[in-house]
Amino acid sequence: MGKVTGFKEFERQDEKYTPVEERVKHYKEFTVPLSESELTKQGSRCMDCGIPFCHSGCPLGNLIPDFNHMVHQGEWQKASWLLHSTNNFPEFTGRLCPAPCEKSCVLGIIEDPVSIENIEKNIVERAFKEGWIKPQPPKKRTEKTIAIVGSGPAGLAAAQQLNRAGHIVTVFERDDEIGGLLRYGIPNFKMEKEIIDRRIAILEAEGITFKTNVNVGVNYDVKELKAFDSVVLCGGATERRSLPTPGIDADGVVQAMDFLTQQTKVVFGKEVKDQVLATDKNVIVIGGGDTGSDCVGTSNRQGAKSVVNFEIMPKPPGHRSPTTPWPFWPLQLKTSSSHEEGVERNWLINTKEFIKDENGKLTALKTVNVEWKMVPGERPQLIEIEGTEKIWPCDLALLALGFTGPESTLADKLGIEKDARSNYKAEYGKYQTNIPNIFTAGDMRRGQSLIVWAISEGREAARQVDIYLMGKSNLPSKNMSGDLVAL
Ligand SMILES: Cc1cc2nc3c(=O)[nH]c(=O)nc-3n(C[C@H](O)[C@H](O)[C@H](O)COP(=O)(O)OP(=O)(O)OC[C@H]3O[C@@H](n4cnc5c(N)ncnc54)[C@H](O)[C@@H]3O)c2cc1C
Ligand code: SF4
Repeated sequence: MGKVTGFKEFERQDEKYTPVEERVKHYKEFTVPLSESELTKQGSRCMDCGIPFCHSGCPLGNLIPDFNHMVHQGEWQKASWLLHSTNNFPEFTGRLCPAPCEKSCVLGIIEDPVSIENIEKNIVERAFKEGWIKPQPPKKRTEKTIAIVGSGPAGLAAAQQLNRAGHIVTVFERDDEIGGLLRYGIPNFKMEKEIIDRRIAILEAEGITFKTNVNVGVNYDVKELKAFDSVVLCGGATERRSLPTPGIDADGVVQAMDFLTQQTKVVFGKEVKDQVLATDKNVIVIGGGDTGSDCVGTSNRQGAKSVVNFEIMPKPPGHRSPTTPWPFWPLQLKTSSSHEEGVERNWLINTKEFIKDENGKLTALKTVNVEWKMVPGERPQLIEIEGTEKIWPCDLALLALGFTGPESTLADKLGIEKDARSNYKAEYGKYQTNIPNIFTAGDMRRGQSLIVWAISEGREAARQVDIYLMGKSNLPSKNMSGDLVAL
């Protein structure tokens, strides 16, 4: 544990942000790190609660009390070793994870929980700075070949684990850069892309081959995958959701992912024809999740005239709701750094029409207020409230409505079965599809989710592939009971 009385002596301290008026002028990260002495105090707040619920709160099973203790002791290299024993990329989760671990921290029952995510980020950043993170190529190769399709966090985690087991790994990515949604979905101000490049350099030095601009099933025949002993499909869940609303085809209604991707490409000097810009426009972001928040931050950086956000669900409570008691993930209002930069948020509102002028250009949105009728045993019903229709001037409407599931090209061409939610079918814990040497992990298997889950699934799938190829595996599993899922 940290310090017997640490949690009584020290309050939680979080990283501060640079002032809004400064940070909206650029696309760099804007957090101000805590000092080393403050971080050791934060590590000491971990109170050795006996049953660390944070372990199971974290989808990776990170050894949280152990690395907190090491930070408190000033043993940063040991902390890094512990952290990397369960997490291939703590620099991604330490910046971007919603930290379910903190929501299940026992200290959180009576006080602010331990600042686990920030400690995680500082451990890995210290490790990179000190040069402790070095390529670790395998000592022996097995001659088994593996193709990974998709280079998001699931594909990268699977690749690193399988390479560690000595297999020969090739990662195929259809984009021009490696990283999946980390590269072009998540804005640079939330995670600078050099953070991905730094890790990719390590993976390449360990012996993994990366092939970009290869769209498997489109410009690369799926038959060529037969040359590999095993394949892991990590293509994400990138089928975008739209709205069945009149006027959706107006010039000025844009998918959030197009808007975000274009801006990140421009930040890196890539050519983008006719970039969609929020500059001097009245912007309405439809969808109140992470993607919507990223659109708000990007619109403000581009100099939007006004930024408004719509969400069809009710406003969540400011504190943990009784329906999601500790240690569950709470239904609770989230205010991101992007929201703090300026946005008018509206809940329980539905778009009835995208109004356009005679040239097809978007000019306004017509909305209606709604309520949800709950009838036990039935699906919630959306009821429009009479007399609440409103017109909102708008030049740019960004659709941040999430994704309906994975694209079907690979499933169709390879003959992979899908589940009722259109995800690629493979049992949790096995990751094996109906074609025995083809596995799947991450958003492609579980639907739109989180980075921490993608890394977890990539690691676990890698172990199952290793068992399939070799009959046993020394790769670690968060499943404490060991070789449970023999195939
Ligand atoms: C805007 C946005 C913000 C988000 N913010 C957060 C956040 O703050 N925190 C968080 O935890 N999660 C966040 N998420 C979710 C998170 O990014 C995903 O859950 C995670 O990236 C899923 O990882 P993955 O590896 O399964 O798939 P992806 O990251 O989607 O990667 C899949 C990759 O496969 C490639 N691919 C697909 N088909 C083929 C093919 N046929 N051939 C070759 N390549 C192919 C795609 O180009 C893509 O690069 C966000 C998502 C979005 C859209
Ligand atoms: S990966 Fe996420 S859930 Fe796990 S310890 Fe880090 S912040 Fe917590």
